[in-house]
Amino acid sequence: MSLEDVENIKKRIENFKKTLMELTETPPPGVDPSAEHKVREMSAEVVDSNPYSRLMALQRMGIVNNYQDIRKYTVVVVGVGGVGSVTAEMLTRCGIGKLILFDYDKVELANMNRLFYQPSQAGLSKVSAASMTLTRINPDVQIETYNTNITLTTQFEEFMNVLKTGGINGDRVDLVLSCVDNYEARMAINTACNELSLNWFESGVSENAVCGHIQYLVPGESACFSCAPPLVVASEIDEKTLKKDGVCAASLPTTMGVVAGLLVQNTLKKLLGFGTVSWYLGYNALTDFFPSMMIKPNPNCSDRFCIMRQEEFLNRVKTEPQCTNEELLEDKVIHEDNAWGILLADDDTTAVSNEATAEFVTTPKAENINKNTSIKSEEEYLSLNDGLEFAYPSADQTAPNEESLVKDTDLTVDELRAQMSLL
Ligand SMILES: [Zn+2]
Repeated sequence: MSLEDVENIKKRIENFKKTLMELTETPPPGVDPSAEHKVREMSAEVVDSNPYSRLMALQRMGIVNNYQDIRKYTVVVVGVGGVGSVTAEMLTRCGIGKLILFDYDKVELANMNRLFYQPSQAGLSKVSAASMTLTRINPDVQIETYNTNITLTTQFEEFMNVLKTGGINGDRVDLVLSCVDNYEARMAINTACNELSLNWFESGVSENAVCGHIQYLVPGESACFSCAPPLVVASEIDEKTLKKDGVCAASLPTTMGVVAGLLVQNTLKKLLGFGTVSWYLGYNALTDFFPSMMIKPNPNCSDRFCIMRQEEFLNRVKTEPQCTNEELLEDKVIHEDNAWGILLADDDTTAVSNEATAEFVTTPKAENINKNTSIKSEEEYLSLNDGLEFAYPSADQTAPNEESLVKDTDLTVDELRAQMSLL
């Protein structure tokens, strides 16, 4: 037996010890992680011992109609790394019905710059470490784990079966969240979701750790992952050849936390039916810029199931009754009561008292400027109260002077460079 084999056996014994410790650790009072799933009514009662009082208050505040609906849903999280583990924790704390986790990786000390995992879990599979922590946080959530790589053919079949029958009552799952870090796994999820017509969210964080995004994919309605492949893939470069020994991607717990937050926020909006779900939402940490857009499907997509879903979507749109103007109006938030007697200021400026208008110079609303509805003339818009004046003239009053104008020249670029070097 080589020295390397002995070291490996030692490591395995250490891992067994850790697993044993995790399993035999005394749970906190009132929590029995080994117990069967407990169906508990989500109570809105405001007492310190109720884990759901703050969530059920969303109903009272008029944000959601029935928060308890969350217990009906099954969400699959593929990849429980920096983004996926935090996503799983948030959904667990929100009391999701069932959570199915897929990953084939192990917890490493190199992951400790991120949230969720603990150094004592190093060496354990990510799914079993996650399952133990999540069950302890909320034993009401059913957790199912798969220590598999969905990009392998046999395991892809298993993944498809889970998507078809993994729901709470043996039906299909409700939503798939992709928290993987490679194109191959995203393509596997894309293929499965196109075939099963399942909605999914994709998420990602850039290798320099300062950008991220989430994207909502509805087969047939929005672009799938094959509709617009990333440049690296379109150039037929093997992603694995880009990785170099001794060089790893950067990661920050902050960016990953933001992306996980955006992902779960949109998941909750989708499942519980409130607000607007973002199709694509980017995040640039350097400038705090959040671009958003919608990408339409490609009618020449290489995925045949995507083309089928596109046809189905177009047929559905044709047969669906058209919305009336009233239906298009924004849903008003209605509170059951107004315990604190909160009053909202009227948008109409006439509601503002004379005293207030004397003190503040109000800026006309942007939409009024655009529509030009309330402003009779530019002079009226630009007029100021007594004692105030503009620091700069308006653009049309600034006549360009001769020197600032760029003139045409017959000189070559080299001649211009020579002139510049003389300056
Ligand atoms: Zn497509």
